[in-house]
Amino acid sequence: MQPPLKVYNTLTAKKEVFEPLNAPHVGMYVCGPTVYSDAHLGNCRTFTAFDVIFRYLRHLDYKVRYVRNITDVGHLLHDADEGEDKIATRARLENLEPMEIVQKYTNGFREIMLELNNIPPSIEPTATGHIVEQIEMTQDLLEKGFAYESNGSVYFSVSKYMEEYPYGELSGRKVEDLVAGSRDNLDGQSEKRDANDFALWKKAQPMHIMRWNSPWGEGFPGWHLECSVMSSKYLGESFDIHGGGMDLKFPHHECEIAQSKGKTGKEPVKYWLHSNMLTMNGAKMSKSVGNVILPNEIFNGTNELLPRPYSPMVLRFAFLQAHYRSTMDISEDAMDAAGKGYRKLMNGLRFIKEMDYISDESVEKPEKQTQQIESIVNSIYRGMNDDFNTAVALAGLFNLLKKVNGLYLDSSKISSYSEETFNKIKATYINVVENVLGLREETPNIHEKAIGTILKNYTEAKEAKDYDKVDSIRADFKAMGISVKDMKDRIDWAYEE
Ligand code: AMP
Ligand code: ZN
Repeated sequence: MQPPLKVYNTLTAKKEVFEPLNAPHVGMYVCGPTVYSDAHLGNCRTFTAFDVIFRYLRHLDYKVRYVRNITDVGHLLHDADEGEDKIATRARLENLEPMEIVQKYTNGFREIMLELNNIPPSIEPTATGHIVEQIEMTQDLLEKGFAYESNGSVYFSVSKYMEEYPYGELSGRKVEDLVAGSRDNLDGQSEKRDANDFALWKKAQPMHIMRWNSPWGEGFPGWHLECSVMSSKYLGESFDIHGGGMDLKFPHHECEIAQSKGKTGKEPVKYWLHSNMLTMNGAKMSKSVGNVILPNEIFNGTNELLPRPYSPMVLRFAFLQAHYRSTMDISEDAMDAAGKGYRKLMNGLRFIKEMDYISDESVEKPEKQTQQIESIVNSIYRGMNDDFNTAVALAGLFNLLKKVNGLYLDSSKISSYSEETFNKIKATYINVVENVLGLREETPNIHEKAIGTILKNYTEAKEAKDYDKVDSIRADFKAMGISVKDMKDRIDWAYEE
């Protein structure tokens, strides 16, 4: 028996049994990228973490509607709602239209997500595609008294909201701290009544390019508003899972809750899930710190921190080695270890796919062996059911791999398992590696054929006792990261571990 799926809910700071509002349907919203620059490794880690969550829920037969937005307007440079728009600033720097910037970085983002084998979301809405709904929600909040207009902009009043609802529950911030911290920032020029207030709608300054008509004049929506609007539009006023990186808890997600609750009076999200940061030498990877590594630099080996290239699947494997709520530090050692682990796992995948059950009634089928497989398989699912702990699941998978390797080296052992147990090994291994963890083999089929041809030469050379040729083929393979496996009854190849 496996325990039920538990998820860590940031809102209650507890692990809770996962019970969707409308099973088997699950609504999941993850804050997407602000498309003003290339996604860095940190961003990739977060989106990969939620891809695994999406994959696992599907594996458990939930029907998941996964919405991940594209922020293409409204994310301002300072404190999210002050200063210039990130996309407009970049457009000026690159001498392009803002929408060209948006398209360029959206394309790049999608490419990287596919390379990392992240499944595209069910819906990928953009903020600029939902201006009308954002204006409507702003009007609604004005009518309800939770917002006020100031000089052509509209702000959400945190103190008004707090007369009816608690604020700061998600991030654990006390309002007194917020107020104390905010007084200093509030200069006499500010349009806000209180520094805790945040923008729902901003008036466009004359030079601002991205602008839309509204009841308050020409302007553009605030960053937090888009996520309240798009999540409720596609998933309903209350939905199951909302995710994002930990750094979004405040102000972004706290503001989302306030806006949505202010409008509907309902708790918008049942489970808030936050993934931890990717760090480098202990510091969060971020553009403002300036310690950003781009995925392509890893794939091409052009980043100075990592002297060798690492493939997309090795990077994905590295992400999976840490639980999504733990920090993860990127380093050469971590990537080398990930490369080794990934290749081992892929060898197992090739081996098990080639294996079929061999029935032999005369061979004994020890009960202990069956129980051992049962317990290994359970350990994998126990890991995943414990708040999607991929680190634990991987450890279980490596135990299963030992069994797979044993069968590969001596196929006569296959008959010592019942057909049911053998099928369990095979199905679990393939399903967990490919469908749940999203790891795939990176050697295309054509390579497999070429390798087969060379192996034939190798076999012939061996039979002819031409050992110089045998050694030279082995050396060539080694240079390509492939090792030749001489078995009793056949010859095969594997990734060099
Ligand atoms: P952004 O495009 O900056 O809004 O970020 C997109 C996503 O990446 C958000 O969910 C962030 O929380 C997440 N993120 C940003 N930096 C990191 C990091 N160093 N490690 C993990 N996730 C990050
Ligand atoms: Zn968001």
